[in-house]
Amino acid sequence: SRLLTRRFFCARRRNILEIFNTVKDMQDKANRLREQGKRIAFVPTMGYFHEGHLDLMREGRKRGDYLVISIFVNPTQFGPAEDLDKYPRDFERDRTLAEEVGVDAIFFPDNEGMYPPRYQTYVDVEGVTKNLCGAARQGHFRGVATVCTKLFNIVKPHVTVFGKKDFQQLVTIRTMIRDLNMDIDVIGMPTTREHDGLAMSSRNVYLSEEERESALSLSRSLFLAKKMFEAGETDAGKVLAEVTRYIESYPHTRIDYAKISCVDTIEEAQHVGVDTFIALAVKVGKTRLIDNHVFGEVLDIPYPEGR
Ligand code: AMP
Repeated sequence: SRLLTRRFFCARRRNILEIFNTVKDMQDKANRLREQGKRIAFVPTMGYFHEGHLDLMREGRKRGDYLVISIFVNPTQFGPAEDLDKYPRDFERDRTLAEEVGVDAIFFPDNEGMYPPRYQTYVDVEGVTKNLCGAARQGHFRGVATVCTKLFNIVKPHVTVFGKKDFQQLVTIRTMIRDLNMDIDVIGMPTTREHDGLAMSSRNVYLSEEERESALSLSRSLFLAKKMFEAGETDAGKVLAEVTRYIESYPHTRIDYAKISCVDTIEEAQHVGVDTFIALAVKVGKTRLIDNHVFGEVLDIPYPEGR
C-alpha cells in the first residue's frame, strides 16, 4: 500500500502543461486564475531554451501558484539588419524542457495575433534606454517595452522573472513598471554560465569552434575588471583600457561597446563603485554577444592563469 500511495502522489504532482496560442484564451485563463485567488508567475522568453531560461522558470515556480512562460520572437525589437529570420527556434524541445521544470502554461502566439493589421501603439521608456544597447540597437527597447506591456496585459502576472544577463532590459522593465503603475513584482536573476564562464545565450549556437573560444574573452575580461576593482582601481577609463586590450587579443572579436555605467540611470560613470556595472557588447565573427558584471557582486568563473 505504501507503493500505491507513492504512485498516487507522483501522479498527482506531475502537472499538465497547457498551451495557449491566442490572446483571448490566455486572458480567459488568467482571469479564472485570479478569480480563484491564484498567484500568477510569468517568465517571458524568445524560446530556444538553455539552462539560464530554466533557472528563471525554477524561480518563477517558487514565486507563484501558476507559472506561465511565453515564447515569442518579437519582431518589433529586431532592427532591419538583425537576426530575426535566423533566430533559432524549436518549440517541441522547449515544450519538453518547460514540462520538466514544472511550467503550467506556455503562451505561444503568432505575429498576427500580437500585431494585427492597423497596430499603432508603442511604449517608449526614455532615459535608461539612451546608452549601451539602446544606442547600438535603435528601437530595440521600444520593441521590448511594448511587447512586455502587451504580455503583462495578456498573462496578468503578479510576479515576473527576468535575467540580469540583459541588465539594461531589466532596468528598463523595472522603470516602465514603476512609471506606468503596473502592479507587478520584478525578480532579477543572476546570469547562468557554461562551465568555462561563457554566459548562456540562445545565440551561442551561431558560434564556430574557434569563435566559441574567442567568446570567452567577454567573461574573462569581466573577471579582469572585477580583479582591478578589488585591487583598488576606481578609474573607469583605466579598467576599460585593460578590458579592451584583453578582448582585442582574441581573434574574430570586434567590440561594439565596453562601458562602465551607473546601475540605476545607465549613464556613463567615470569612477568604478558598487553602484556601477561594466557592460560589453562584442561581435564574435557575425554573432553579437553581450555580458556584464555589477561591481561588488559575485562572478563565479574559472580564470586561466597567465593570459
Ligand atoms: P531571451 O529568450 O533571450 O529573450 O531571454 C529571456 C529571459 O531569459 C530574459 O529575462 C533574459 O535576461 C534571460 N536570460 C537569457 N540568458 C540568460 C542567462 N544566461 N542567465 C540568466 N538569464 C538569462
